[in-house]
Amino acid sequence: MDHHPIEITPPDITPFKHGNAGVDYVHVLRSERPGPTVMVQALTHGNEFCGALALTSLLDAQVTPARGTLILAFANVEAFARFDFDDPDRSRFIDEDYNRVWGDGVQAEDVLSGTRDSAELRRARQLRPFVDSADFLLDLHSMHEPCRPIMVCGVGPRGGDKSVALSRELGVPGDLLLDTGHPAGLRMIERGGFGDPASRKAAVLIECGQHWERSAVDVAIDTLLRFLRVTGAVDATWIDARLHRAPAMQQHVIRVTEAVVAQSMDFRFAGNYSGLEVIATAGTPIAFDGNRVWTAPYDETVLVMPSLKHVKPGTTMVRLGRYD
Ligand SMILES: [Zn+2]
Repeated sequence: MDHHPIEITPPDITPFKHGNAGVDYVHVLRSERPGPTVMVQALTHGNEFCGALALTSLLDAQVTPARGTLILAFANVEAFARFDFDDPDRSRFIDEDYNRVWGDGVQAEDVLSGTRDSAELRRARQLRPFVDSADFLLDLHSMHEPCRPIMVCGVGPRGGDKSVALSRELGVPGDLLLDTGHPAGLRMIERGGFGDPASRKAAVLIECGQHWERSAVDVAIDTLLRFLRVTGAVDATWIDARLHRAPAMQQHVIRVTEAVVAQSMDFRFAGNYSGLEVIATAGTPIAFDGNRVWTAPYDETVLVMPSLKHVKPGTTMVRLGRYD
C-alpha cells in the first residue's frame, strides 16, 4: 500500500495502563505546592502516536510537578491498539471522532451527557472530569500530509484568542491557526472554560507534522516541555536541560475564513498540496470538483490541511485562510 515514509514505531503504552486515578491510562501527579491543574492528552486520534511517544518519554523520565496537579492521559487507547501502517485510518477511532463529542448543551448540542453510546463517548465520559478540572490543556496531534507544525487555537471570539496568547508564550510553532470550529461537534479545546473568553482557562492543540515522521515526535516533545514550563507545572531547570529545539523565529496567525466542501466524487486539487501553501492571486484555481472550479477567494490565500483522504460530497477537503 502507498503511504508516507515510516520513521517511527508506535510505543508500548501497556506499562502505563494502571494509573493512580481509577481510570486506565490516566496519571495524576500532585505537588505539595499549590498551582494550576495542567493536562496533556495524547492519542485523541488513535493513529497519531507522536504524542504518545512524547508522553511515554515524560513518564519514563519520571517527571514530577513543581506545583499544582499534572494530568497525563492517553485518550483513545482502544483505537490505538489496532494500529496498522497499511490501514492507519482504521485506528483513528472506533465508532466516531473522539474530538467531536465534547458538546455539553451550553456551547453545542449535548452529546457528552446525552444518551447516545459509542466507544469514543464511553472514553470521553471517563476522561471528562479530568478535562473539566484542567486550567491548561495541551492536546497532541499529527497530520496526514507532511506540513509545518500548526497550533490549532480554536475559534477567535470563543477562546481562540487566549490560545493564541498561550502559544506566543510557548514560542512555538510558527503557524497559529484560528478557525471556525467543526460543524460535526465540539472539540476538547473549545469545551467549557476553554471556549469562554471570560475564563482564565486555556487549551491548545498542536499538529506536530506528518504522522510518521521523526520530526513530529521532536515537535511533540518540544511543545510539551515548553507547555509544562510556561504553565509552571514542572521546574524550569528540569525542562531547560531537555529542550533541544529553538523557538520559532516568528509566529503568525492564520485566520480561516471558509471551507472547501466537496460537491462530487470527482474532486482533485489543482496542485500537489500538503498544507500552508500560499496562493498569491485571487481567482487562481485551487481545485476541480465535477463541473465546478474552486478558486482562491483573495490574494495570499493559505491552504490549511488539504486532504484527499476522504473524497465524498459534503466532506471538507481544505480550509482557506489568510495570515493576519
Ligand atoms: Zn488529530
